[in-house]
Amino acid sequence: MEFSRRSRLRPEAKFGLDSMLEWLIPHNVALYAIPPMVDLSITELQLLALERLKVLRILEQATNKNLKLSSDEGRESVFNEMNHAGLKHYVRLCQGNHSKEQDIAARKKDYLSHFILRFAYCSTEELRRWFITREMELFRLKFAGLSAQDVKDFVLKYEMGYSPLTPDQKNEIKDGLYDSTLYHSIVQIESMDFYKVRFTEVLDLVRSRKCYLRTGFAYVGASDFVSIIANKHQQLLEDGLQAHLRLLPEIENDERFTMILKELHTSYTGKDYRVSKSGQVPIESLDQLSKKSFPLCMRYCHDTLRSKHHLKHGGRMQYGLFLKAIGVTMEDSLRFWREEFTRGTVTLEKFEKEYAYNIRHNYGKEGSRVNYAAYNCMKIITASVTPQDTHGCPFKNWEPSVLKTKLSSFGLSAAHAEEISGFASRGHYQIACGKYFEISHDTKLDEGITHPNQYFDLSQITVGARAPKVKPQNQNRRTFSSQDTSHVVRNTQDTATLNGDDDNELWELMESNEKEGGVKHESILLELPASTQGKPASRPAVPTSEWGDDEDFDVSQVEMA
Ligand code: SF4
Repeated sequence: MEFSRRSRLRPEAKFGLDSMLEWLIPHNVALYAIPPMVDLSITELQLLALERLKVLRILEQATNKNLKLSSDEGRESVFNEMNHAGLKHYVRLCQGNHSKEQDIAARKKDYLSHFILRFAYCSTEELRRWFITREMELFRLKFAGLSAQDVKDFVLKYEMGYSPLTPDQKNEIKDGLYDSTLYHSIVQIESMDFYKVRFTEVLDLVRSRKCYLRTGFAYVGASDFVSIIANKHQQLLEDGLQAHLRLLPEIENDERFTMILKELHTSYTGKDYRVSKSGQVPIESLDQLSKKSFPLCMRYCHDTLRSKHHLKHGGRMQYGLFLKAIGVTMEDSLRFWREEFTRGTVTLEKFEKEYAYNIRHNYGKEGSRVNYAAYNCMKIITASVTPQDTHGCPFKNWEPSVLKTKLSSFGLSAAHAEEISGFASRGHYQIACGKYFEISHDTKLDEGITHPNQYFDLSQITVGARAPKVKPQNQNRRTFSSQDTSHVVRNTQDTATLNGDDDNELWELMESNEKEGGVKHESILLELPASTQGKPASRPAVPTSEWGDDEDFDVSQVEMA
């Protein structure tokens, strides 16, 4: 079957945005074959992008924890995380195909956010690989929630050219189906749908002997049908990213869009840490706390400050904001830094003149009076560092031999140091950090490390210095939607009424963009020219054989105003 040609994508008569999106997304499992052509405000674009990023990061964390997304346990864990993060609409899309109002709204967010992230993740091989891996996880998660009827609808709506065997066809090969379909009774097999495909389309099923083979064809049950679609979907993603890459130079003229895209992968979507909600931490306890409850990045800053009585700017910012967020007061902070610096080469006068201001600034008492958030792992990991610097993530910046020696000096066995360093040298810095936590606390983590202050909180809870927090129910949480965006943006002073810490990052990003770029969210629109006019006679079909034609994606239609 041929993929839809350009002529089918540019129908003549005009129709509205909603009709167009409903036509493009006929099913809860989307194939993202055709880019949408819509107007989006910068704010909507940011919110959609950050929401999807949260989803993809939840999937990444689940995979890092070795959770099988196809298992009930894995799915439940991911859904809990998504619900907790205010992403119920994505959970909805993973629970079968329905066409209620909420499904249609969820499909639109899913579709638009996917294409926005394509721009953010098309520029390097590393970003593309990350994006495709996560998108494939999301795709499989959604597909696994489909019933046999939903799969049939999927095939039909995307005009994929497959149809289940008729009862007579099934009867003809029933013995083969009984023998090759594991974990199902004969009664179940008789009520299941099977599809006949070329065996080359399902080599993974052939390899794992999960389908019946006859005369060059494989007979695949509806629940395994995802194998066929996943290959095609991955090809679509790869081609789509390449097509977006070719378009990047054109959109780079738009500073607003470029700024958002550049920062997206390193933007933090987790809990925000600005001030401690668990009381004050006296500076006299920092030596002891640093040994047990500081992650390696902060312990290194602390030890260097104690031994050399100085930290360069990057280290002062990274460590100073961390201290503020664990509960060190501004007065204590000033005393702590003053005592250390004046033990070295800095005079008291110089300290008051050159350093005290910055400490007060971090606490929001000077200059723009912003109460700055502590740095998250992504910000620390991606910071540029020189060999003389103290800031940055040791799991990334230290040579394996240095890391192993350091870990051994902290009391870890050679085998444990080797294991952690192995994760670090494969580029899994946060997993290495989580492993270090588990080994040094003799416990199992049920969440990944994404923030040094999260590490500190978890440690304090594990050692019994603090009671664990009871996760709040979702009833008071409020999720962002394109409908309420204008309200949200106009009330920028009212962050306390939003849905908790997780959304502070959205605020921060929007606020910082507003400051840096002078963007007025209400008035600026990104326009994706809508040359689509008139409702098409038929829906865009998805190819079963030719998936490599970039022209078919028609990404070139997407331009920034
Ligand atoms: S993974 Fe995060 S918390 Fe751990 S050392 Fe690196 S930056 Fe610090």
